[in-house]
Amino acid sequence: MSVDSVLPARRLPNVVALASALDVIPESVVIFGMDDVILFANKAAEALYGHPVNAAQGRNINDFLAMRHPHGLDEMKRLLLDTGEWSGECFRRSAMGMELKIGLDWTLARDDQGTPSFVVERSRDLTRVDEIAVQFRIASHRYENIFQAMAASFWELDFSGVRRMIGELMQAGISDLASHFHTDDAWIEEALRNTIVLDVNEKTVEMFGAESREAMIGGHVEAAWPKQSRHLFADALLCAIRREPRLSAETVLTRLDGTPFNALFTVCWPPGHEGKGSVLVGVIDISDRKRSEAELIASEARYRELFQAMSMGLLHLDTRRLWQIFNRLKQEGVADLRAHLESYPHLLQEAMEATVVAEVNVAAMALYRAASANDLVGKTVKSLWTPKGMKTFIRALESGYYLLPGFEEETEQLRLDGTTMAVHLSFNPSPALRAQGRLLVGLIDISERVAAEASLSELKKSFAHHTRLALLGEMTASISHEINQPLSAIMTYSAAGRRLLERAVVDTEKLLFIHDNIVADARRAADVITRTRRMATGKDADKVAVQVVTLVEEALRFVDHELKSNSVTIEKIFADEGGRVAVDPVQLQQVIVNLAINAIQEMQKVPHCKRLLQVRTGTKGDGVVIAVEDRGLGIQPENLSRLFETFFTTKTAGLGMGLAICKQIVEAHGGKLIATNTGSGALFETTLPRVP
Ligand code: ADP
Repeated sequence: MSVDSVLPARRLPNVVALASALDVIPESVVIFGMDDVILFANKAAEALYGHPVNAAQGRNINDFLAMRHPHGLDEMKRLLLDTGEWSGECFRRSAMGMELKIGLDWTLARDDQGTPSFVVERSRDLTRVDEIAVQFRIASHRYENIFQAMAASFWELDFSGVRRMIGELMQAGISDLASHFHTDDAWIEEALRNTIVLDVNEKTVEMFGAESREAMIGGHVEAAWPKQSRHLFADALLCAIRREPRLSAETVLTRLDGTPFNALFTVCWPPGHEGKGSVLVGVIDISDRKRSEAELIASEARYRELFQAMSMGLLHLDTRRLWQIFNRLKQEGVADLRAHLESYPHLLQEAMEATVVAEVNVAAMALYRAASANDLVGKTVKSLWTPKGMKTFIRALESGYYLLPGFEEETEQLRLDGTTMAVHLSFNPSPALRAQGRLLVGLIDISERVAAEASLSELKKSFAHHTRLALLGEMTASISHEINQPLSAIMTYSAAGRRLLERAVVDTEKLLFIHDNIVADARRAADVITRTRRMATGKDADKVAVQVVTLVEEALRFVDHELKSNSVTIEKIFADEGGRVAVDPVQLQQVIVNLAINAIQEMQKVPHCKRLLQVRTGTKGDGVVIAVEDRGLGIQPENLSRLFETFFTTKTAGLGMGLAICKQIVEAHGGKLIATNTGSGALFETTLPRVP
């Protein structure tokens, strides 16, 4: 139906009929007069521009839709009047204010006299079309880029030849295609030869070692498919027949020079390709991944071997939950973990329960006396810690919390049978393992060593005791002399007292003097006995702060007799009366007596006139020094380094224990014992920390 025949010159009498006719047209139709006033617009125009028809009618179309044309409206109209129509593109604005690109077709209607009476306009939105075109361009560019630039090899293959072959099989009545594909090698080979390369990307050229794309295009794919992988080609065919969209598998393909490589093969039938009989194939070279996987497996295996073969007990702990606790505490801003654990002791339990044994080696099983790994694996470490070991556990937690590099400590662990063992526990986590929440803990059973150490120290104690007794034996003469002196004095005083009492007039004053002296001498004798008993029993007293002079003086009283009987002159030089030391007096006296007796024994080798024992005390810095110097022959230079070794002696009846024990006692008091030659004899210098 021609618009000319329906519409009258200026008015539109049959508007309703016309509108209902034009409304069904999906294209926008607007009729406007030669004065550009809109006379009619259909539903599609309403939808395109967004203005209701009644709002448009009577408006100047160019103003109403903000018409814009690159060459101007006048030029458009001139052409319309000249030729009766105009077609082209312009810009208009929609009711929403959006600039639209519009494709326009104007047809000029004339009346019977040929006078232009109105214009019928058909228009459509080109904005979207443009957008789609741009998107399409971008997409195809992107595809092109991906196709060319991806690290993957892409092939576009023509499958139509294979399709034909499959069709022939079906016509021949072969219904079980799957078993046919997998059994008839010749058929598959032919199918490979019938699979023609339509296109490949540059990566394919590189990956398969071809000369160029062009050299590959038009060829077939048989060379790329080694015999061992043909079953996958068969699977791909089956996949196509079943209309499955894609198939992906790891396989082995061959380069054109025949070298095989591990490949991830993907074939897909992209939408739109079905009818064309072409498929897209993607190939990724995974030889590197395979190699690193193989290396990983090998290193895992090596790790596992090592893990089991280590003679040290190894616990592999899963600390992921522990790290959740740590992270929570860090978020709460806990900077001092130890203080926090003291305030919230339940956290310690929580931390132990959050640390789970993931793996143990044979040595660890033996350590904990576990019958099987499962006795430990999956359990938390809570049952392995004793209350005594808790300090270590806290320090280990701190080491993790503050990301300290390593940890080692001697501690105690509980075996599964409830007995305890002394262990050396260590770990040295790498940041990577830490991040994974894995911790490898090494354990060495040191129970035997600890027990041996304990018995050694017992042995040393008993040796010390025996040397003390030996020393006392050597000093018996001194002791008896010391006791004899007050006893004979007491006897003398008693006799004198008796004589006084027998007189007619008793001299009370004299008697009281005698009595006081008896008491004083009795006390001296008692003192000697007490000291000797203390030394003999070897009972270690507590440390007390004493004047070093008092200490030395008392000790020297034990050797009084030895000095005299060996004609040794003693010279005491006590420089500083104020020097005080905190010591076990019995032990320290043992040292001084020992040194003095050694000195006296050494001086037996020199003439009487030369025998001088000098004992000096004084302070040096923070220390108090006791020097015992003799005028003997001195220490043989080759013996200087061995002097303090246990059982080292140059004497026929010597024990070789004295100096070793002296050194041990002095060092246990935080001091030092040094032996030197003075040129005129030996000097033994004991330095002890000074106390206020
Ligand atoms: P012992 O007296 O039983 O030999 P010690 O351990 O007391 O054991 O002394 C070890 C050795 O050190 C002595 O045998 C002696 O050779 C040497 N020695 C100790 N004191 C002196 C000293 N004052 N002068 C020279 N040598 C000494």
